[in-house]
Amino acid sequence: MPARILDGKALAAQLRASVKPGVERLAARSIRPGLAVVLAGEDPASQTYVRNKIKACADTGVHSDLHQLPGDVAEAALLDRVRMLNQDPRVHGILVQMPLPKQIRAATVLEAISPAKDVDGFHPANLGALVAGLAGVVPCTPAGIMRMLAAEGVVLEGRSAVVLGRSTIVGKPMALLLLQRDATVTVCHSRTARLADVTRQADVLVAAVGRARFVTAAMVKPGACVIDVGVNRLEDGRLAGDVDFAAVREVAGLLTPVPGGVGPMTVAMLIHNAVNAALRSCGERGLD
Ligand code: NAP
Repeated sequence: MPARILDGKALAAQLRASVKPGVERLAARSIRPGLAVVLAGEDPASQTYVRNKIKACADTGVHSDLHQLPGDVAEAALLDRVRMLNQDPRVHGILVQMPLPKQIRAATVLEAISPAKDVDGFHPANLGALVAGLAGVVPCTPAGIMRMLAAEGVVLEGRSAVVLGRSTIVGKPMALLLLQRDATVTVCHSRTARLADVTRQADVLVAAVGRARFVTAAMVKPGACVIDVGVNRLEDGRLAGDVDFAAVREVAGLLTPVPGGVGPMTVAMLIHNAVNAALRSCGERGLD
């Protein structure tokens, strides 16, 4: 039987609707949650991501400001902009779109964002909180995936989870979140030996590699839950995930599509984190 396809768009719409009561609580205090989006340069993919995020803000009552900077912006100027946004009480969340131009050290910029306004959850304080199992802002993509798994009733306790990719924005936080839910977690990367042998053990397989159709049917355990994080542009202009969708759907039990899977959940989590940041800034209880 082909895999059930997980509708990320529908789940994301539910998640976006669930922030409404938070927006209303803020409105009762005459506060509008505000997100500042900083974009350096004119990378077309980044421009599309930023447009989607700004549209999602408008749809959910979050005010957003785009801070477009030239591609040759100096690191000091970008840091000044971040520090100015840290001080601005109308700005509750700051997002610096990655990747940054080569002359800028991403880690330095991320560290400059106030942890309370770090809606991406990439500040070392928030990543440290995740490692320690403390409250903090959780990166949007893995947080969105955990919500997808919960919504589908995917059992994690005692199951084998394999994360393909070890980036700080997806792979590593994903592994920590799965571990928190008592899965037995393996993280794979470009140096992993006998990769298919490892991935075939996975009850839950998360692919965040950045290579189109990298995960083949032979790499998937029959009935597994396969989460495709990848967004890859094919030569003909279409998008493809990291998973060979047509082949893997014949083997997996549950599968996310690209587009329409993890992507919309990531954007919805960003809105969730921005509203949460605004609620916490005025001492209100955060969202669930
Ligand atoms: P990244 O920083 O480039 O990391 C890719 C990871 O894949 C690295 O850990 C790399 O290993 C590993 N890898 C590369 N080739 C491999 C191979 N042949 N075998 C095994 N592992 C391999 O990418 P990322 O930022 O995590 O993003 C991954 C993908 O997800 C991209 O397509 C990105 O566009 C997409 N993405 C989507 C969303 C969304 O919302 N849908 C959000 C974020 C990212 P090494 O560490 O050894 O180099």
